[in-house]
Amino acid sequence: MIFKVTPKRSGLHGKGLFAAKDLSAGERLIEYKGIRYEKGVVPNMDIDGLTKFLGLSDGSGIDGTGWAALANHGCNPNSELRESESRGRLRAWLYALRDIKQGEEILWDYRLEVTSTKEAYSLWSCACGADDCRGTMANPERLRKRKR
Ligand SMILES: [Zn+2]
Repeated sequence: MIFKVTPKRSGLHGKGLFAAKDLSAGERLIEYKGIRYEKGVVPNMDIDGLTKFLGLSDGSGIDGTGWAALANHGCNPNSELRESESRGRLRAWLYALRDIKQGEEILWDYRLEVTSTKEAYSLWSCACGADDCRGTMANPERLRKRKR
């Protein structure tokens, strides 16, 4: 089996996910796998666990345990999560947003739903190093809305 991505120590945070070969824009990389939770049910998690819990658009969630959950947040990401229904349930995969060179770190924008601006910048501060880093892993649209 040839993997498109592989886990490796990251300069950003803990272990990250990296391109195991040159990847093309639009390519499906890896499924976001983990423990499934019914709509409205959220497991008890520590801070680190919170970034691995993926809320899906139907209200259910995945507590990520696979390689995809290792992918770090980036404010200028090279990949994104897309949902699609398969075998009767919603699933999520990481897709390349642009061509990615072998060895590049796979980053996606977590867009965490947070309860306050303070939480966004204290608990979920970001130092991804992108020129346009917004300083938080929180959902920027949500923050703008709350400021009004
Ligand atoms: Zn950032």
